[in-house]
Amino acid sequence: MPDPTLLPLRVMSLHALIYCERLFYLEEVEDICVADEAVYAWRALHEEIQDQAEGPFESHVLESESLGLRGKVDCIRSRDGSVIPYEHKRGRSRKGDGDPDAWETDRIQALAYGLLVRDCLGVLVQEVRVRYHEDNALVKIALDDGGEAAVRTAIARANKLRASSERPAVAKNEHLCVHCSLAPVCLPEEERLAGDPSWEAIRLFPADPDVATLHVVTPGAHVGRSGECLTVACPKEKANEYGAETLGAVVLHGNAQISTQALGLCAAKGIVVHWITGGGTYLGSFSVGSGPVQRRIRQFTALSDEGRRLSLARKLVRGKVAGQFHFLLRATRGKDRKAIGLESAAMTMRSALRQAQAAEGIETLRGLEGSAAHAYFSVLPALLRQEVPPALRPEGRSRRPPRDPFNAALSFLYALLYKDVLASILSVGLEPAFGILHEPRSSAHPLVLDLMELFRVPLADMPVVASFNRLQWAEADFVRTGGKVWLSDSGRRKAIEVYERRKEERWKHPVTGYSLSYARLIELEVRLFEKEWTGTPGLFARMAVR
Ligand code: SF4
Repeated sequence: MPDPTLLPLRVMSLHALIYCERLFYLEEVEDICVADEAVYAWRALHEEIQDQAEGPFESHVLESESLGLRGKVDCIRSRDGSVIPYEHKRGRSRKGDGDPDAWETDRIQALAYGLLVRDCLGVLVQEVRVRYHEDNALVKIALDDGGEAAVRTAIARANKLRASSERPAVAKNEHLCVHCSLAPVCLPEEERLAGDPSWEAIRLFPADPDVATLHVVTPGAHVGRSGECLTVACPKEKANEYGAETLGAVVLHGNAQISTQALGLCAAKGIVVHWITGGGTYLGSFSVGSGPVQRRIRQFTALSDEGRRLSLARKLVRGKVAGQFHFLLRATRGKDRKAIGLESAAMTMRSALRQAQAAEGIETLRGLEGSAAHAYFSVLPALLRQEVPPALRPEGRSRRPPRDPFNAALSFLYALLYKDVLASILSVGLEPAFGILHEPRSSAHPLVLDLMELFRVPLADMPVVASFNRLQWAEADFVRTGGKVWLSDSGRRKAIEVYERRKEERWKHPVTGYSLSYARLIELEVRLFEKEWTGTPGLFARMAVR
């Protein structure tokens, strides 16, 4: 008898269960759904079938309390006094030695529909059929005692998994993952690599984002809605349209406006909207939320464990300092390192790296991180070429407010990075307020500040230094008021271009061994962070630039 506290199971979910128990769990328990091309094609086929259905046995939505099942049968036909449910599949049948056969996933799904029809409509069902459209094969399956027992066993297993708080292990057969729509969320290859360092991971995680970020920079610009598009109207200019499906985020700079209708479209399409002040300070974001609560509960439980939190904070600090250290070493090749103060900075940073490994408390780690950052920023100005005009050169690090053009550009890129890390945290389904190293002292989310540490060097420091060395900046790109320096309108556009270009560049991840864009790297790292408590730990914060 099914557990009365559980809603009836979707028949479709049995297909996932037979394919891979982890897939079933991610979809049914964690409510994760990735609509890839195969899913869209499947929907199109089923809509076509619905359009063609006729007669008394058109598509039925059925639910059986006794079976604990619910589902929509593609088609039911009557043949020689018997009722036959049909399941339509887009792909090919299984080719054995003889006639075409059904795949086991399809067989259990079709049989489950057969039981559902028999139970709900009170008719005789002795056979179910699966139609494979790609090779035009029709497979007939007997609904006998063996078939019924197989479905009931699958239902019992599914309900056991639904009651569990443990994600099942990744599929033993790695070939299944290559065709799995949830591979970018599940990260099976990374999990195998974490368990076996000799594993040669293949990239199932998309290398580039399939959606773009729309920056609205022009003062007085207005974002509206036209059907399924966002429109951006700038004063005295013709409005431009952007298809909502092509966008992942909208960033409103300065006094740009957005309408309620446009926000509604963003909410419906999962587009995150961020606000950044004209001075480059991150203000806030609008998003539909972090999805099901289970992931945040697990995060909270994991990060409430002081031992685990300390261990993650150690990894984070080491990852950050290692990134800064390697960047300095790389950028000062051929320079007189002693003269620019690198030798003493290197000593401080090496010492911080060593001590962070064994640090006994979060406060100690914060201190080590702070002294390493101080050493790093003391050398950073020396990375700029002599040709960079003195008026644009920095003197150490100044944050709130920036006191020179270099720091103004750096702070602006950090604000852009902040919103991207936040968006990734939300898309993974984590809670940005539960962090490991930063305290909730300001309105900034601690976890965003934590994970940003890994990306400051590759996504902000390196491209800003490179752009200054390419002499891309001019005095007109900055506004000076009192001792403060902000980006002007042209400066903001330049900074956005520098940052977005950098996000598009691909980089070979030193641990997973595959290449992906920096834009995708942020989400990958957030997912590896979550794996520290939901899967096989060991890959988080090991991506330092070399
Ligand atoms: S990627 Fe592999 S392990 Fe993960 S859910 Fe899909 S089939 Fe299962």
